[in-house]
Amino acid sequence: MEKDSNNIYLVDRKPRKCPCCGGKVVPILYGEPSSEAFEKADRGEIVLGGCIIFADMPEYQCTGCGAQFRKPIIYRNPEDVLKPKR
Ligand SMILES: [Zn+2]
Repeated sequence: MEKDSNNIYLVDRKPRKCPCCGGKVVPILYGEPSSEAFEKADRGEIVLGGCIIFADMPEYQCTGCGAQFRKPIIYRNPEDVLKPKR
């Protein structure tokens, strides 16, 4: 399975189980968590990702080994990939 430079697995959709350890893969919730979100995190249904949001952050995480997953970024303009940002 392909990984990006941040050691995040690139997946088209949420994997049913972790390719490393076979553990449960759950969505990562970003932003200010609600009390419901805290309860879900306690039950291991989601992972709380914190409030800081950046471009290529992972969407899912393994509850067993902590491996992270995200969808490959689809660039609308291929030149955005080739040109360095200034
Ligand atoms: Zn795992």
